[in-house]
Amino acid sequence: MSKERNLSPYEEFNMEIPQEEFPEGSISARAAKSIVDSAMWTDANPMLNLSSFVTTYMEPEARDLMHEHVHINYVDHDMYPKTYAMEQIMVKWLHDLWNGPKDKEPYGAATVGSSEACMLAGLAHKWNWREKRKAEGKDASNPNMVTGGNVQIVWKKFMRYFDVEDKIIPLKPGNYRLTAEHLDEYVDENTICVVAIAGQTFTGEDDDIQEIHDWLDAYEEKTGISIPLHIDGASGGFVNPFLYPDYEWDFRLPRVASINASGHKFGLVYPGLGWLIFREKSLFNEGLIFYVNYLGGESATATLNFSRNAAQIIAQAYKFIRHGREGYTAIMQQTVDNAEYLRDLLVKSDYFEIMNETQRIPVVALTLKDNVDNFNEFDVSAKVREKGWVLSAYTMPPNAEEITSLRIVVRAHLNRTVIRNLAKDIVEACDYLKENGGNAKPPKLHKHSAGKC
Ligand SMILES: *Cc1c(COP(=O)(O)O)cnc(C)c1O
Repeated sequence: MSKERNLSPYEEFNMEIPQEEFPEGSISARAAKSIVDSAMWTDANPMLNLSSFVTTYMEPEARDLMHEHVHINYVDHDMYPKTYAMEQIMVKWLHDLWNGPKDKEPYGAATVGSSEACMLAGLAHKWNWREKRKAEGKDASNPNMVTGGNVQIVWKKFMRYFDVEDKIIPLKPGNYRLTAEHLDEYVDENTICVVAIAGQTFTGEDDDIQEIHDWLDAYEEKTGISIPLHIDGASGGFVNPFLYPDYEWDFRLPRVASINASGHKFGLVYPGLGWLIFREKSLFNEGLIFYVNYLGGESATATLNFSRNAAQIIAQAYKFIRHGREGYTAIMQQTVDNAEYLRDLLVKSDYFEIMNETQRIPVVALTLKDNVDNFNEFDVSAKVREKGWVLSAYTMPPNAEEITSLRIVVRAHLNRTVIRNLAKDIVEACDYLKENGGNAKPPKLHKHSAGKC
């Protein structure tokens, strides 16, 4: 262990970071910054990390705002009432953006990400279900949730962490969305809600939200059991309203009780920010709200997290005010156009076929054609990494594990020239692999793992 205390100003910069024990002495600010900074030099360049949906570019004005507010603890509503008011205004804006009923009082919250939003939504539906069951004098000990096999890992976490039986409808090769097809084998009186996705992680498609909705309507007619629908719009929540205004995926469908979205994905804010919005206030179970007085004044808290940074919430306000519907529409259109451009260039190369039937959000999900037999998607991912690009390759969830996918998330910071360079590097990687063969084996996956977010 180094005794930093006795280092000269020159030696400080050369100090080795202790690996096991807590640092002993103190060093200058400049040396500390340099050591921490350089320790991460070999991490990926976030701009080239196209395996992730999360925002990596914001304008200097947004960064200034975040910097100015970075010391604000969001939860302290008594001290920062205007920050809280800003969040509440954005809850109303999102309720409006997602076509919530005008005559109902919206309810919602900013969260650390969609994960916290999803868990909170799941809890609200679990509590509502339990209350209703108890009021009817029925057993309330076996709640379950119905989702497709394409759900993001957070839902599996929710079900395990909060003791809700998972009823996950498996995928099959060629169909990676949840439809109404097998709902009758999974949905029952203990189903707290069905989760359908707008903009899924694997192929970017939407589940068949309308069909699922209509099936649940028919189920209620037949059985008298009304089951709410939650929409996981982590990605689609900030794409659908702008690009497909006539497409009814949101609160226009009466059974949609709650929607989450990631402010840090196509909400275009740096991590971490998520949103959860309920169709109306009464759907958020009052029992989940706590009133605290230890920050001075009494304030309500109903998120899983307590203290959190306000900077992302303020940055979201900046983005909404800066772009408005007009700007978000232009940005999303350009991004989807760029995704289509990339897709076309790659399909033209004759190495790949497209996995998604519809191109809603700017995700390009590819799989190598059957006639490619001496390399796989993992080889392509590894080869383009030599140029700095990070593209995720993964096997699909059950029962489509035999399909391997190469996924590229096209985000707003990628321009045409970058897309063309990327396509060229991918095709050149394939040319090289065709000539020399690949050797990557799919990494061994844990039973519950899923594609990256
Ligand atoms: C990213 C994602 C999540 C998790 O959201 P975070 O914002 O990363 O916590 C949940 N569902 C879907 C469909 C996602 O794409």
